[in-house]
Amino acid sequence: MQPVKSPAEMTRLVMSLKREGKWIGFVPTMGYLHEGHRSLIRRARKESGAVVVSVFVNPTQFGPKEDFKRYPRNAARDAAMLKKEKVDFLFAPSVRGIYPKGSRARLNPGSLARGLCGPKRPGHFRGVVTVVKRLFDIIRPGAAYFGQKDYQQARIIEAMIRRFRLPIRMVICPIVRERDGLAMSSRNVYLSRSERLRARAIPRTLELARRLIRRRVPPREVEWKAKLYLKPYVDSIDYICVVDPETLRPASSLKKGVLVALACFVGRTRLIDNMLIRR
Ligand code: AMP
Repeated sequence: MQPVKSPAEMTRLVMSLKREGKWIGFVPTMGYLHEGHRSLIRRARKESGAVVVSVFVNPTQFGPKEDFKRYPRNAARDAAMLKKEKVDFLFAPSVRGIYPKGSRARLNPGSLARGLCGPKRPGHFRGVVTVVKRLFDIIRPGAAYFGQKDYQQARIIEAMIRRFRLPIRMVICPIVRERDGLAMSSRNVYLSRSERLRARAIPRTLELARRLIRRRVPPREVEWKAKLYLKPYVDSIDYICVVDPETLRPASSLKKGVLVALACFVGRTRLIDNMLIRR
């Protein structure tokens, strides 16, 4: 596994692999890697001639009051995991490498950013599409691997790929969960013991929503019943929404299948989770 810091060097390396006819699989991350990341890496490893994993805590996707500074980092542990998974390149650029002085242009995340986390984290998806487009330009992968855990993010990036007609196959991998159902996340380390116990109510809320939807309870009623269930366990709820999985707009019927997505705070930690419920 070769660590690479310079974007120009990264491009040189992937271009030479491409000349050898290798298919590049790319997994973008913010590091502090866990089993969720590992599942993406393994899928990429299976499907690609060479795998690039980026570790970059992207400052432009954090709001001024968010956790950029205290976001968990552990470069040595990440590198050990990537080596074990036989990743070819660990791309860990500096902030200046991705955002050279004067490069203030940001991409528009489009209409999929209007709901769910969009209004709750102003500027977040603008930062996300901007950094992912820059990483794509540097790495020029044949396929990119994202987690369903960040469903809205994956859909926004998919739309960006279409908008720029990038020759990149988007692969969305299932959510990896702890044994008690909590979705794995680098932010779970923020949780105290009691917060961690309360957080178990999040996957249970999604299960409740699934049962209600199976019983054909209308979407708005599912939303308020799910909120009522979750409320006592968490400190605040940003949203619980039943949406169309394509448009991310409120689902009006259950015909096409729906996405139940939620965001809430347990203590000071913001957690997100979702479940796709197909017909
Ligand atoms: P992050 O490092 O949190 O930015 O995540 C990097 C990638 O890993 C994103 O595509 C996430 O959706 C994905 N990911 C994070 N947590 C999980 C999980 N529990 N299961 C599957 N994928 C995940």
